[in-house]
Amino acid sequence: MSDSKLDKYRNTRDFDTTGEPSGKTMDGSDQTLLFVIQKHDATSLHYDFRIEVDGVLKSWAVPKGVSTDPREKRLAMPTEDHPLEYGDFEGVIPKDEYGGGTVLLWDRGTYKNLKEDDDGQPIPMAQCLEGGHATIFLKGEKIEGGYALIRTDTGKNERWLLVKMDDEKADARRNPVSTEPLSVVSGRDLQNIVEDGENDEAD
Ligand code: MN
Repeated sequence: MSDSKLDKYRNTRDFDTTGEPSGKTMDGSDQTLLFVIQKHDATSLHYDFRIEVDGVLKSWAVPKGVSTDPREKRLAMPTEDHPLEYGDFEGVIPKDEYGGGTVLLWDRGTYKNLKEDDDGQPIPMAQCLEGGHATIFLKGEKIEGGYALIRTDTGKNERWLLVKMDDEKADARRNPVSTEPLSVVSGRDLQNIVEDGENDEAD
């Protein structure tokens, strides 16, 4: 850790007594990588699953949302990269625009890349995705634990599966997609967001 750019920042602070962030994630690494799941009420309702990779949000549309049951393999259709700032977006996309509909921040947090080579060195996430298999540890408010992203078809019909790994956070009885529908940032449901959007236009 001595080569960290944050050494000076950390060495001059006692994080047991100051409320300032240490800049370390739960795994002790310096890198805080964002993940976000946006419920998107567009032409058809789906959940956009996005993870930060090399400065953009790699994205998949997951029609049924993320499951906590390892036996549930959720289809994930790749979509275009989004800017990191999209992880803050909640609101209404005008009907005639691309992706027109309501976006709700269903879950958000940090993730860690779990893939290592035989020497225990992390394999870069971009390389994992290129190879069609990634394993990640999510730490959100609704979704936690290990997940695998597995590419099952390539080319024009590229598709992936998003599957809960069988760890201590696996829970076949939980069904957060239906029992925890509200936004993690605003507490709103889809209808609240639509109504707030209409009020904005009236201002
Ligand atoms: Mn979408």
